[in-house]
Amino acid sequence: MYLGGFQKNSLIDFPGTIACVVFTRGCNFTCPYCHNPDLAAGSAVPAGGRSSGGSGLNQLDLSPCDGPDQEEIFAFLEKRKGMIEGVAVTGGEPTLQPDLTDFLQTVRQMGYKIKLDTNGTAPRVLDALFDQGLVDYLAMDIKTDTDHYPMVMKNPGHLDRVMESISLIMKKAPAYEFRTTCAKPFLTPAIMKNIGKMIQGAASYVLQPCSRNMDMLDPDFAAVDDHFLNVGDMEALKAAILPFVRNTRIR
Ligand code: SF4
Repeated sequence: MYLGGFQKNSLIDFPGTIACVVFTRGCNFTCPYCHNPDLAAGSAVPAGGRSSGGSGLNQLDLSPCDGPDQEEIFAFLEKRKGMIEGVAVTGGEPTLQPDLTDFLQTVRQMGYKIKLDTNGTAPRVLDALFDQGLVDYLAMDIKTDTDHYPMVMKNPGHLDRVMESISLIMKKAPAYEFRTTCAKPFLTPAIMKNIGKMIQGAASYVLQPCSRNMDMLDPDFAAVDDHFLNVGDMEALKAAILPFVRNTRIR
């Protein structure tokens, strides 16, 4: 795994679970408000560099790891058995990592619960992980409705994969949430109704306002007042989605 960060303790990243958090490098989306710009941008290597390969689903090239060492994380987990319950894997986009399955198998063999965050562009990877019982909790970002998704994708052709992942997660994930970071122009009440049709009947949906006071992939995005939503705006979004997903909350 090409890692960009490691957090030893978290009470908020894995619902109901004391967890550590592993951050992977590289992402195939370009959300301008992304709060992990160093991870999302990754470090593309020139032609001839090491490719993500693996599933064959992803075309991103990633540089060798300059984050924490995977073996050090395993050593940490070995020592913390009984004190930490789970491992949350986030990014970047973790499913771009060719050895994600191997990593999760090792974590599982140590007895830890696993949460995985994803943007949903690798349904076949998710399907295989579900079949192997390597995910206990899945969190998938829903960025916007289908008309606007191409605004955040390096490859707009990945929209079909996003839709496939939604369907797959609702059928096979042991526990899951869909979640959306809310900022304009990606979220309006009209767009939220369209999202409602995409995820109708989902078990859980979380809306989180986009925080302005953090690093962003596109620093210019933070300079525009109109991109950011107030409490009333968030409540209007929630009202728009409730007819489709009853268990919607603002975090
Ligand atoms: S999908 Fe996530 S990691 Fe990738 S750019 Fe968007 S917010 Fe950042």
